[in-house]
Amino acid sequence: MNTHPTTTGSASSGGATHATYPRGLLVAGDPGFDVARKPWNLAVEQRPAAIAHPADAAEVAAVVRLAAASRLRVAAQATGHGAGALGPLDDVVLLRTSRLTGVALDARARRARVGAGTRWLDVVPPAGGQGLAALHGSSPDVGVVGYSLGGGLSWYGRALGLAANSVTAAELVTADGTLVRVDADHEPDLFWALRGGGGSFGVVTALEFALHPISTAYAGLLAWDWRHSERVLTRWLDWAGPAPDAVSTSLRLVQVPPLPEMPEPVRGRALVMIDGAVLADNPEAERILAPLRELAPELDTFTRLPASTLLRLHLEPEGPTPLVSASRTLHELPAGAVGTLLDVAGPDSGTSLQVAAELRQLGGALSRPAAGGGALASLDGAFVLYACGVVPTSELLARARLDARRVVDAMAPFSARQQYLNLTANRTDVAVGYDPLAWARLRAIRAAVDPGGMFVAGHPVPLTA
Ligand SMILES: Cc1cc2nc3c(=O)[nH]c(=O)nc-3n(C[C@H](O)[C@H](O)[C@H](O)COP(=O)(O)OP(=O)(O)OC[C@H]3O[C@@H](n4cnc5c(N)ncnc54)[C@H](O)[C@@H]3O)c2cc1C
Repeated sequence: MNTHPTTTGSASSGGATHATYPRGLLVAGDPGFDVARKPWNLAVEQRPAAIAHPADAAEVAAVVRLAAASRLRVAAQATGHGAGALGPLDDVVLLRTSRLTGVALDARARRARVGAGTRWLDVVPPAGGQGLAALHGSSPDVGVVGYSLGGGLSWYGRALGLAANSVTAAELVTADGTLVRVDADHEPDLFWALRGGGGSFGVVTALEFALHPISTAYAGLLAWDWRHSERVLTRWLDWAGPAPDAVSTSLRLVQVPPLPEMPEPVRGRALVMIDGAVLADNPEAERILAPLRELAPELDTFTRLPASTLLRLHLEPEGPTPLVSASRTLHELPAGAVGTLLDVAGPDSGTSLQVAAELRQLGGALSRPAAGGGALASLDGAFVLYACGVVPTSELLARARLDARRVVDAMAPFSARQQYLNLTANRTDVAVGYDPLAWARLRAIRAAVDPGGMFVAGHPVPLTA
């Protein structure tokens, strides 16, 4: 595409479809194109045919119509945390949602409504100010929409389930350029598909979701030198399965870089670390954590905290970052699996990764189908395994990819039947993310609402077998 289209002509139906897209599209060679095409994950190279920055739903509809008229497809992107799962963009308009902002909270109804460009750091602090919590993940600058459409695994997950099942309504522009509102009573199939089925069904312009009456949590981290990995991992695995729903934790084997932005007690250290949150009063939380504290952690920051501080509990990198990762969802791990994991991610593994391995605790409400839930009503499996490294130079990229792959490949014998795709940063067989009935229904809905394959999504629901 070598022209600069600026208008779409008139549109025929739907409240948002009569606008043109006045700002024009950026194409290669335009000033700003090379900046605009960069996703949050700088390890992913994106070369779209064009880039749009619509400012409202009407402009989103205009971009979709313009793309259709130009025989292009459309990929919605908020931040680009999930850019690695998108694939080639040669015939694609990358629709950046960063201008679709706005957060409205209704404390009495415990609801939030956000524009598609909203990140968790835009929602969690104001909700916290009203004594409410959203089911956000571990990273402040992940987008609310991409995270929620893909499931949404939070520090509240084992108590309250996936974020997708707290979504109460969405507004989206469909393949014909129409703006529709979906909820339990309007377009229920599409509403079901969006809640866990990802971005294959349209461009979401606004999302509404339940907030939960949580103002504080007993939260923090425990850390030991990673020489103690075997002892700590063995205890945590025994503890995690039968733990009450009130607690959601993660265990990580980390090599914390010696960077000034890292907190002093962990800076430059190799540690085995357990962090998370307990939704219980202090005595009950202390009782729940006692088997872990028995192992005498060198660092123990668990205490009662305002819920909004959980947003930065995990010390995730903020701002554009070159990240390489791999992930696999696992079933209950037998004792022998500890040695397998430590061989590839423990102190003697020679791994180059900062997060040599992370296990996120599943189970509890995550494992029970949510009443009236969406395409991802529950998650199979006991843990999500994740390994990642920040790779500042291209020379380190191949090594980090190999090391991340080595971790998830070693644990393949313990794979759960269903995989959690939100934390899978690369292209994969998407069918493994769903139970067979949900997968068949998702495919039928995609074929009905986007028969021409207008939308390009991370972890797409395909039109053909
Ligand atoms: C550092 C880090 C920490 C993370 N922590 C967690 C976590 O704690 N829990 C968890 O569950 N996941 C986590 N994730 C995974 C994250 O939820 C997914 O990568 C998610 O897709 C990111 O959404 P985004 O909008 O920020 O990214 P984007 O790359 O912008 O979007 C990802 C995909 O979402 C869809 N999408 C986004 N916006 C729209 C829209 N407006 N309309 C339609 N589709 C859209 C598209 O398919 C797009 O390809 C983490 C990822 C990283 C890199």
